[in-house]
Amino acid sequence: MIKTAEFIKSAVSISDLPSDDLSHYLLLGRSNVGKSSLINAVTNRKSLARVSQTPGKTITLNLYLLNQSFYLVDAPGYGYAKRSKTQAKSFVTMIRNYINQNQKLKKVILLIDFNIGPTIDDLSLYSELIHFDIPLIIVATKYDKLKSSLRLKQQKVLTEKFITDQKIYFTSSETKYGIEKFIAEVFENE
Ligand code: GDP
Repeated sequence: MIKTAEFIKSAVSISDLPSDDLSHYLLLGRSNVGKSSLINAVTNRKSLARVSQTPGKTITLNLYLLNQSFYLVDAPGYGYAKRSKTQAKSFVTMIRNYINQNQKLKKVILLIDFNIGPTIDDLSLYSELIHFDIPLIIVATKYDKLKSSLRLKQQKVLTEKFITDQKIYFTSSETKYGIEKFIAEVFENE
């Protein structure tokens, strides 16, 4: 259970990250996937993370301290039409450096919109992430949005596209479906 959550800072570079020894969990997902809503649902706060913020130009990592014991690290949503190729490249470079240089990173959590299914951007980031020696968790968001008759089929699509030794989680920030299980299992060592 998440008892406390506070926004710590927006880090503009790797050297700007906190120097303590607390664990990091990195959240990745394209813009509009429901990342802010998931942070709010996990922390049981209405607006800890801003929902539907307009994409800024600066690439920052937003750090939230949960239960005074670990950081949830929110990376900017990728795949903005507005973002240039150069920006997209610097996003991938920053994430790559962050993963490579951060001994405190325990898991990478990639969000996929369950209703829309994996996009080209999602699959391209996924193919980068599997090369790192770090547990990769897939979270399918907006579970409530898909008709129940289509859910099994869509679950199958995801299990075929994302080959991971970790579980795929199905969540809804709207109904809170799957949120407790996600917290209990993904942050089990915290
Ligand atoms: P972000 O850009 O990834 O941070 O996405 P947001 O959290 O801002 O969500 C984008 C849109 O999807 C908003 O209109 C949310 O209200 C909506 N949304 C997010 N999560 C859910 C969910 O679980 N169910 C439904 N029905 N809508 C959601």
